[in-house]
Order: sequence, then C-alpha cells, then structure tokens
Amino acid sequence: MDEKALPKDTVSESAKEIRLKGVTICPGIGIGHIRILDREIYISRKRITSDQVESEQQRYSEAVKTVSDHLYEHIKEAHAGSSLSASLILKNHEAMLTDGQFHDAVRSRISAEYKNAAWAIEVEAQQIITGLEASRSPYLKSRAEDIRDLVESIVDALSSRPETYKKVLPQRRESEVLISGNLFPSSVMEARRFRSVAFVTESAVLSSHAAILLKGFGIPAIGGVKGLRESAVDGDRVIVDAINSVVIIRPKPETVQEYITLKRELETPEALPLSPPIGSRTKDGVDVRLMANINNPDQIQLVLRNRLEGVGLFRTEFFVLETESFPTEKEQYDIYHRVFTAAGGRRVVIRTFDIGGDKEIVDFRYCTGQNPALGVRGVRRHFLHRPEELRAQLRAILRAAVGFPVGILLPMITTVDDIREVKRLFQNVKEELHARNDTFSADVQLGAMIEVPAAAISISDILAEVDFVNVGTNDLLQYFVAADRDNEAVLKYEDFESRAFLWLLQFIIERTAESGKEKDVTICGEIASHPQLVPLLLGLGYRSLSITPTAAQSVRDAIANTDLHASSSDRVVG
Ligand code: PEP
Ligand code: MG
Repeated sequence: MDEKALPKDTVSESAKEIRLKGVTICPGIGIGHIRILDREIYISRKRITSDQVESEQQRYSEAVKTVSDHLYEHIKEAHAGSSLSASLILKNHEAMLTDGQFHDAVRSRISAEYKNAAWAIEVEAQQIITGLEASRSPYLKSRAEDIRDLVESIVDALSSRPETYKKVLPQRRESEVLISGNLFPSSVMEARRFRSVAFVTESAVLSSHAAILLKGFGIPAIGGVKGLRESAVDGDRVIVDAINSVVIIRPKPETVQEYITLKRELETPEALPLSPPIGSRTKDGVDVRLMANINNPDQIQLVLRNRLEGVGLFRTEFFVLETESFPTEKEQYDIYHRVFTAAGGRRVVIRTFDIGGDKEIVDFRYCTGQNPALGVRGVRRHFLHRPEELRAQLRAILRAAVGFPVGILLPMITTVDDIREVKRLFQNVKEELHARNDTFSADVQLGAMIEVPAAAISISDILAEVDFVNVGTNDLLQYFVAADRDNEAVLKYEDFESRAFLWLLQFIIERTAESGKEKDVTICGEIASHPQLVPLLLGLGYRSLSITPTAAQSVRDAIANTDLHASSSDRVVG
C-alpha cells in the first residue's frame, strides 16, 4: 500500500500489518476474518454481439434456475446459527428470484445494450440497491445486503456449470468481523445474525440506535475509523481491539498471539452472577443509583455480572426488531417473567415498544410518515394504529409483575394529555384483567420518557401524573437541536455539553427538585454511560443513572472520583 495514501489516523504500518485508530463503541476484543458489508461485487463486464444476445439471455435464465434450485440449501448453510429464522431470508431471496419484472429488465439490458449477463444484472441490481440504501427505512436498507448476496450467487452461477455451482457458493467463515462504511441497525442485525466476533465502521454517529444495539449485544465494536475500507480486504485476518480503539488489519503472527492471550485473560470468569449490587457513592458521600439499559432478555445476565441495581430501561422493541415479529401476550408474559425472576428482586423498568423513527418493522412501515423521527413513533403509534398491541403488552407486564418491583415506561410522551390517555387505557386494562379473573400486580409504577423538548418544559405537570420519569438524552438532544442523531452531516450539533442543552437538563432537575421528586428522575440516554460526562450530570443534581452494563466499572469510578462539594460553585448554567 502507498504510505502517502494512508489516512492521518493510521498509527503504524508494517509490510502486512496496518493499524487504524477509531472510537470504541462497545469494549472487547474480536479476532477473526474480514467480511465487508456494502461491498462492491466483482463483475467481468463484456460487450456481446447481436447474435450472442439470445444465448446470453438463455445463460442468464439458466443461472437464475440454478440459484433457485440451490436456494434452500444455500440459505440454510449461509445462515446457520442465525437468530433470525432462515425462512425469513429465504422469503426475501425467493421474492427476488421470482420477480419476473426484474428478470425481464435484465434480459432487455442484454438485448438493448449488448451487455453480458453479469454486467446487465449488476446494473439492474445496483439501481435497486442505491434506492434501498437511500431509504430511511432500516428494513429496506437491510434488503440491499440480501440483493448483493443474491446477485453474487447469480454471477457465480453464470461462471460455473450447474453441477459444480454448489462448490463456488460463498461460505461464511467461523469468526467474522463485519466492516461497514455505515452504521445502520440492519448492519448490526447482520452481525448478530451471523454471530460476528466484532464490528468496525467508518461512521461516527455513536449515539445512533445501531451503536446502542452493538453495546446491547456486547459485540466488540469501533466506529469513526477513517480509511477502513481502503485497507480492508474480504477474508483477511483482523483484530479489533475495542479496549484501545485500534483495528489491526492483516496482523503479524506475534500480534495475533499477543491478542489471543489478552482475550483469554479478559474472558476469565467475572463476579458470581448473583452477587448483590454494589452501590455507587461520590467522594464526598452522595449516593448515586446505577441501573442498566438492556435490549433483550438475556442481557439481564450483564446486569447481574456488573452488579448494577436494576434495569432502568428495557428497550422491548429490539426483540421485535430482531425476530421481525411481535410476540403474543403469552410469549411476552414468559419473557418478562423470566427477566423479573432473574433480576432477583431488583427493580425492572420495561419500556413499551418504541417502534418508529429508525426502529421500523416491515409490517408497520405504512404508519411512520414521511419524516419518521417526527412522525408516528412510540406511544403515538399505539394511540393511532395499535392500541391493542399496547394493551396486550400492558397485560403481559402486569400479570408477570406479581411479586416483583416493576415500572412501565412510555416512549415519546409529548404532552400531559398523552399521559392521561395512557392512564385511561392502563386503568381499562386492569379492569379487563380483573374481569378475566387474571392475577396481576396492582403496584406496577407508570413512568414517562422525557425525550421531546415539549415534555421537558412540561416536566412539573408530567411528574404530577406519573410515578417516575426517564430523561432520554439521545432523542431529547436530537429534537432540541433539530439534528438527526443518525446523520453524520449534522453531528456537530449533537453536543451534550452545549450551554443550551445543559440549561435544559438543569431546568428538568430543578423543576423535579421543587416537587421533591428528584429521586424519581433517571437519565437513561448514552450520556450517562460516558464517564467523562458523569460528573457534569451529578453536578447538575441528577442522582440516578441507567447505563450500558459494560460501562459499569468506568462510570462507577467516575462517580467515586467526583467531589460534589468541591465542584458545586461551577455547576450553574446561567
Ligand atoms: C433516548 O432517547 O435517550 C433513549 C434512551 O431511548 P432510545 O435511545 O432508545 O431512543
Ligand atoms: Mg429515545
């Protein structure tokens, strides 16, 4: 590689080993082989003559047939171990293979533009891929990867005899490290689907849902790695050191050895799962409650291992996103009951499905609107389109909560009226359970996410209606500064430390303190998982944080090193 072409962030390079610096999204170490997402497919492009058109079209049809014949086998092999059912992927591939319009368009390109079949399918598919990738919908974005996969299969089939085709199918390696130019939830789902050992991206939108998902799944990940795709080659070895925020491409054997040892040391058994939670206290003796954000039921284990005081936010929509289906009331009951039981008496706050924005599900695409983040998201979606879905979720939580300390959290609350509407529905659900003779908990608390500026301004009125609130700084900031949290181009406005945003955070906690409810306010946005920002939050008066479980130690240390008494003079944002 030409040394001058290397980006500034390259920290060193040897003949084979390249080290690139980034920012850790989720700590850990992954050692494996590169698989590039959003990759370009290698195509041999040739002009054909008019008398070759028919045979080229024929070759194309045969290749499509060969791929169809092997489809089931291929999907089963390629997606073995996937948490998403292979049948769903199969369905998507089948839909494209049987899309007559698409094949006609490819055949027309062969005859009208005298392109060989591989070239014709490339051009046709690229148009679709570009459209899908430009879409706001994560579901559609993820379909682009399926199309690439399928085009690659057809191109392979074009260059092999049907009987040898199976042998040239791309095989997935054991330990894959996904490399992507973007940071979409769909790419993270891809990593989860294939049990990837790490994820690296050039993108720097680190409070996006995709980044949150990576942390939740505990996939070692680094973002903001410039020059990544120029250096990465599919199949090459790579080490992702998401402790020191370095990606090592084509590492020397001694580097691999060093990291194998390091990884082993890191993986030695941690504290016993059921050790009691450790409280957190500042240097001058102020208690701070430290809870966890989780995205799926298995992550309760992270809460226990990191000895956190409970679950401050369970993002239930992610288990819907993972399986692309809604669990029934019975299935939800089982999930919640399992989490409450495993929590061993710790408080668990369950957020109702926050679908919409960039967390979209195929069946519900229709209702998110032109501008999904400002459209039908969270409780808005429930009120307008899915009241029964919310009712089923509330029933499941209330029934599972018998004997456990539980809170229900409502996403995207904008006005006090939103709260009142849910409260009516909540009351109604209880009456329904009563009439059904179902046992349920009467002690479940109700809380509101404060993530829309209007709700933040109405905090006193909202607090009068609910038992607790969670300040969702990820959305609160994006809506406050009108800058999409997933858009790199407006990243500079996403400044948690800006005077204006700190003023808003201070406004919220001061109004809460006036009602004597400051203990019922938890910050659950990513800001709380950043040890360097924690003293600021404590200084403003926040005493309860809900964080990414893996950040527990660093946040606990940051709390222990904060002396609120000494820093009290510089906390006021005028
Ligand atoms: C937030 O908005 O800060 C939050 C915690 O919720 P989410 O990131 O899931 O939108
Ligand atoms: Mg939010």
